[in-house]
Amino acid sequence: MSLQPWLTDTWRQLATALAQQRLHHGLLFAAPAGYGKRVLANALATAALCQQRLPDGRACGRCRACLLVAAGTHPDFTRVTFELRDDGKPRTEITIDQMRNLSQRLALSSQFGGLQIALIDPADRLNASAANALLKTLEEPATATIILLVADDASRLPATIRSRCQRIEVRVPTRDEAMGWLREQRLGEADANTALDASLGNPGQALAWSADDTLALRNTCADDLAALARGRRSALEVAEAWAADRPDTRLWFAAVLARDEAQRLARGDSGRFGLTAPGEIPKLAAWFGRANQARGLLATTVRTDLVLLDVLRAWSTQTPQ
Ligand SMILES: [Zn+2]
Repeated sequence: MSLQPWLTDTWRQLATALAQQRLHHGLLFAAPAGYGKRVLANALATAALCQQRLPDGRACGRCRACLLVAAGTHPDFTRVTFELRDDGKPRTEITIDQMRNLSQRLALSSQFGGLQIALIDPADRLNASAANALLKTLEEPATATIILLVADDASRLPATIRSRCQRIEVRVPTRDEAMGWLREQRLGEADANTALDASLGNPGQALAWSADDTLALRNTCADDLAALARGRRSALEVAEAWAADRPDTRLWFAAVLARDEAQRLARGDSGRFGLTAPGEIPKLAAWFGRANQARGLLATTVRTDLVLLDVLRAWSTQTPQ
């Protein structure tokens, strides 16, 4: 596994700190999904346990420790993620029992005589009591243990936990770096460009969206917004369709499409929705904000179809018929 090119500087710093035995005992890998923080955290976890690291500091993949890590049976490596509930479905949070088990395990000495590594992912889904238990572990670190926390949204972690960890920043790639990486993943030039536009330059997201029908969904959203603007479909009809399938992704696409339209108008071009008047720009900007607020509401108990209806009605009335 090779590291994405935009991760190499950060990797070099981590590998050097590991080799010099001065890694912080709590490391927080925080970045939106798709930029490679998981790759980085896993590379560090495996490198920390490897017995014959490569010259660039990465794990060899062949020694006994590496084989055990790959098999999921290394005694000094604990991965904490969602457990399965009794009905076989995964939980949506990490529990206090999991954190208690982890602290007990870290209190034992390393079986290989090296570091003990714990990787908590997604750390932003620790429930309140689990976060408290983890805080105690971070406050009284056992010697030779390193806890790696991986979080898409670090703001969901208590400040007390964040302040106990060293934050590892993941750089946002340039367009060229992201395109180069997508080409290596065998994505065609046109597809890679469309996917990067849709994801606002997020390469992992672009790749994931190219692999399924998500980009087609973006076109459907654009068609729906155009039909609404021209009065060919009703907000109610579109809200029901969107509520039934990936409402959050659709709203995200809709918000970005409105923003793109505003940018085109600002450049003097005409947009995909056929808007031409520069007077539409502030309305589009306002709707972009509104759509993003609506996305926030989707995570609450407010009914999804009502949230969508509200924001889509606003779209129909804001855009000229
Ligand atoms: Zn190895």
